[in-house]
Amino acid sequence: MDLNRKQITSDLAIVGMGAGGLFAAALITLLRNGKFLEALNRPYVEAEVKDLWQADLTKFTLAANLKISLIEGQEQVGKKLNLTGGQRANLATNLTEELLAAKYFAAKDFLRKARQYLTPSLLRSLLYSMDIATYYDEQGRLYPKSNQAKEVTSKLLHTALANPLSTIYYSEKITDISMDGQQQIILPGSKHTFITKAAILATGGASYPKTGSDGAFLKMLTANKQFNCSAYPAKPALAALQQNNFPLADLQGISLTDVTLTWETFSRLTKEEERRYQRLKRQSLQGDLLINKKGFSGPCAMNLARFLREKAEDNALTVTWLPADLIKDVSEKLKQAIHEGDKRPLGLWLKQNLPLPERLQNSIREKLLTQKYRHQTTMPIKYLTAAEGTDFLEVFCHWHSVDWHVADLLHAQVTSGGIKRTCIDPNTMACKAAANVHIVGELLDIDAACGGFNLLAAFATSTLAVKSLLLLPAQ
Ligand SMILES: Cc1cc2nc3c(=O)[nH]c(=O)nc-3n(C[C@H](O)[C@H](O)[C@H](O)COP(=O)(O)OP(=O)(O)OC[C@H]3O[C@@H](n4cnc5c(N)ncnc54)[C@H](O)[C@@H]3O)c2cc1C
Repeated sequence: MDLNRKQITSDLAIVGMGAGGLFAAALITLLRNGKFLEALNRPYVEAEVKDLWQADLTKFTLAANLKISLIEGQEQVGKKLNLTGGQRANLATNLTEELLAAKYFAAKDFLRKARQYLTPSLLRSLLYSMDIATYYDEQGRLYPKSNQAKEVTSKLLHTALANPLSTIYYSEKITDISMDGQQQIILPGSKHTFITKAAILATGGASYPKTGSDGAFLKMLTANKQFNCSAYPAKPALAALQQNNFPLADLQGISLTDVTLTWETFSRLTKEEERRYQRLKRQSLQGDLLINKKGFSGPCAMNLARFLREKAEDNALTVTWLPADLIKDVSEKLKQAIHEGDKRPLGLWLKQNLPLPERLQNSIREKLLTQKYRHQTTMPIKYLTAAEGTDFLEVFCHWHSVDWHVADLLHAQVTSGGIKRTCIDPNTMACKAAANVHIVGELLDIDAACGGFNLLAAFATSTLAVKSLLLLPAQ
């Protein structure tokens, strides 16, 4: 330890003031000032979660007087949180437990306790107690009423700092972590050395490193054998799907709903890929899609990304631009038009009957049809056979191409990989090898689908850590 540097001692240090760290610090304030109970008792909070918390609150006493250091490596808190949900912050989605669990893939059992203690309804109520009013959109996604992620960040910070025992340190990038003989945790930062009895480590994943979560802390933590934490390497999870020389680049900006992406790998799957990523040889997902310069993004493409390897592999992607029942209806209509000898040119008929953006239809015609077939789109439908009509629809409704890869970590929204779940107690988020060290959020090997599930996981794992650190067995 460098004795020339100023030492800051505390009972608890929260390292990383992003979504998880800010929420942990704000929750401590609510537990101390009684607003937690007020939030718990709001009528829309489920009886099950109330009962769970009430049982704990009666059994345990609150360690209300902890001196807390809030440590952030950047000059401001919540840089990534500010970007979430198109800067509107999709905070959670209200789903039944079964549907919610499925959003966390192989981490669903590990996160069961976290989901039980922080349901989307309790989250909503806690945020309300922090002066963050929220609403559910038509798909059950939770957003702040202001539609401003920055409001969430600033009010979480405001609530966190309302605890007179908490002090925040900015631009304090922690460069190492170790434990002394008294089990105190030593955290050298850029300006001070922090010495603390307990820690919540919330330094995030490795995507969008310019926001401060660059994956460096994960390496330090795993390098120190005292914590016995091993990790899976960081890999992009929610990321765009890209292709070298993407032929539809000119269509960037087009967004479509109800698209089906079917991805298939021709490589052999490893056991680890099957277990960790629930990777299959063939995977099909439906949802909204955005065409960009290098490929596809939007929830449907991004949700598929976790299943792909980071490096290019032998694979193929089929995009079905429209829902199957709609394609079937158009196909019946086209057969009817051919049968009735419709005089309209096929291209015009498709524009009138196929609900695809004109730019996309033109591009398909120009790029995906051979000269002969392109010419045929200018001819009246009556000259087509039913089989040719089916072939045309096939080209206009499905696009098949090969050699896809995922965008790199610089541009991925979420990291898969991180501290292995087997190193952590799922009831408290404490390190099994060091009970006073709690690990939360994206620093853990958890990643979820689009829809607020990653923020919910960061908030919920922080909730368990705070519960375990603040609610102590009554003497
Ligand atoms: C563009 C974008 C949009 C997204 N949209 C959504 C969305 O709408 N809904 C959703 O659920 N999820 C969304 N996510 C994912 C979500 O933001 C993350 O899953 C979430 O922020 C993870 O929280 P965290 O607290 O674990 O880490 P982070 O929020 O990344 O916070 C980590 C903090 O730790 C600090 N830190 C790192 N290392 C150190 C160190 N050595 N010393 C001190 N401090 C350190 C960082 O500076 C940072 O402030 C989005 C992500 C991106 C990039």
